[in-house]
Amino acid sequence: MSELKPCPFCGEKVTMCQWGIGKDYFVSCTLCGVGILEEDLTEIEATEMWNTRAIDPRILLFIRQMKLLSSAYHGRPNGANDCLCEFELLFPELKEAKDE
Ligand SMILES: [Zn+2]
Repeated sequence: MSELKPCPFCGEKVTMCQWGIGKDYFVSCTLCGVGILEEDLTEIEATEMWNTRAIDPRILLFIRQMKLLSSAYHGRPNGANDCLCEFELLFPELKEAKDE
């Protein structure tokens, strides 16, 4: 089974939890509590749902704004690339947002 991606909001680890017996697995962030809560999910289904969740467009906007601020702070167009590299390690699917 694939590993769970970190929380897209705070970067913290998330945990797999289970209601009762059998199905009904869900994923929840250990810090901010965000998670998915669907009925009748197996552990594999809950993992897949968590790892392929859509990225909130507000996060993409935030990244673009941070890139502009970082570029201005560093005084060079590619300054943001240095600052955002750790963030991209956590969320590699956001790389395309950086290049827009
Ligand atoms: Zn979180």
